Amino acid sequence: MNNIVAEKITVAPVERKDGTYALRLCLKHGQLTAGMMKTVLDTMAEFGLTSLRATTGQRMNLEGISRENLDGVIAALGASVEKAPLTTSVCSGAGICKYGMQESYGMADKLLEVVKANGPYPFKVKSGVSGCKMGCGLSFIRDIGMVGGPKGWEVHFGSSARKDAGLGVMLGSKLTEEEALGVAAKALTFYKENGRNRERTSGMLRRLGTEAVLEAVK
Ligand code: SF4
Repeated sequence: MNNIVAEKITVAPVERKDGTYALRLCLKHGQLTAGMMKTVLDTMAEFGLTSLRATTGQRMNLEGISRENLDGVIAALGASVEKAPLTTSVCSGAGICKYGMQESYGMADKLLEVVKANGPYPFKVKSGVSGCKMGCGLSFIRDIGMVGGPKGWEVHFGSSARKDAGLGVMLGSKLTEEEALGVAAKALTFYKENGRNRERTSGMLRRLGTEAVLEAVK
């Protein structure tokens, strides 16, 4: 175990109904490294914590921390406390998965930069990157989603997994990485300029129609 490097962990505290706290471990690409796991397990043992829960957002929640132990747990984790940073759902992609057509992690980092650079938006923007059409990175149900194909990337916009769930519109296919990111940036700018307050991309798409968005990304 001595060769395991304990990387820095970023956490965001979340208060629970019963007065306890969870610490959201903010992972990059959903990965919990060996060093992080050792630190987390040692901390759980020290404070008698029993629940480390995977979230739908590819993070981990360390649950059941009492108010009086919260600072001690954060210190034991050696963690920095921040508002949970914006993230994108991402699958393992062509670098790991045998079905992968395109490499996902690099695209996820670049898409996240595009999302950040074009904000602020009328409401939250969720993004996803998948290395193939299986869509494990939730690309087909996100505000903006990239899907890898044999000849490049597809860009999907305005999908939703909420109560009015549905697919949005495909804005392009067989695109290079640069082209796909350019299309995403145009679509997000259109949303910033045309979305109503607290209206998700899916609502704007229904209100204005797919042609308006397709025209904006030409
Ligand atoms: S979307 Fe495709 S490449 Fe990504 S994990 Fe799923 S099957 Fe693999």
